[in-house]
Amino acid sequence: MTNMRKKDKLPKLQTAEEALRRAEAALQDRPLEFRMWGGSKGQDQRVWNHLIYYLNADLPADTAAYLRLLQILNELTCMDPTLVFMLKECGRGDDDGIRLWELSEHQASNFVSLAGRYQPDLKNLILWLCKPKSHPELRERGLRFLDKGAHGESWKVDYDVDPITDDESPFDEDKEPPEVYFVKQTKYASIVVPICKFIFGYVDGLAKGLPIRVCKRLGCGKFFMPQRTGRKIYCSDDCRVLDHQNDKSKDEKADDAYVRRLKQLTAGRLRRKLNLPKVENRLKEIESRRPQMKETIGDLRAS
Ligand SMILES: [Zn+2]
Repeated sequence: MTNMRKKDKLPKLQTAEEALRRAEAALQDRPLEFRMWGGSKGQDQRVWNHLIYYLNADLPADTAAYLRLLQILNELTCMDPTLVFMLKECGRGDDDGIRLWELSEHQASNFVSLAGRYQPDLKNLILWLCKPKSHPELRERGLRFLDKGAHGESWKVDYDVDPITDDESPFDEDKEPPEVYFVKQTKYASIVVPICKFIFGYVDGLAKGLPIRVCKRLGCGKFFMPQRTGRKIYCSDDCRVLDHQNDKSKDEKADDAYVRRLKQLTAGRLRRKLNLPKVENRLKEIESRRPQMKETIGDLRAS
């Protein structure tokens, strides 16, 4: 398949450093529309779409993935101005929180390295959640990551700020509630906290399960979101075609083995076998599928 990688339009990168520089530049430009103010409608779908892109991405070469991750965090934190990330992984102290926009604009290299660092853990977690029976080996590691991440939030009410008396957002208490009752200050231990909390919402208790799947083709392993129409099991048409070719070659190997086993039999046993209708049917099937086997099978019949 020469056109396997249609999406790989990025020119080849010389070094990982070049990729990092490009990611940093992209983050600082941030040519993104932040649409979370359109309400929560469609938000989950957008987050899953970005998450799938980030998880499937070849980092650090695919710099769009960093922007997708940033978009996820913006969506999930609603750009809360009081929210800070503590980022102990980057050597920050207890009171040394950083806001998301500061992280992406002034500390993009940290953001880039965190994105690379958490991608494998998130991939393992999601793979286990999609296929827990096939991957029992990922269970404990995945659950620990989810547990730690979902617990990585702490917040406290800010008593000094009283939005009820704020003249800028007046409200009539006989008709409506205030926009907010109080202000709280939130700290996230790492950038994966909002993502773990988001995933947790899908799998806690009576789970609704994740709306994404893993491509059926062995060796692909990409995540994708099935469309509403049709039950897709492959991430792309390319994978579907390749997998069917694999199935075909599996059939061919089985045919070869079948004929080989017959050839190894003694003349008497071979004769008895060839008289069985199911053996004859199988040989006819092989001949019609692979005309080049006709001669070998003819020899078997003649022996
Ligand atoms: Zn695939």
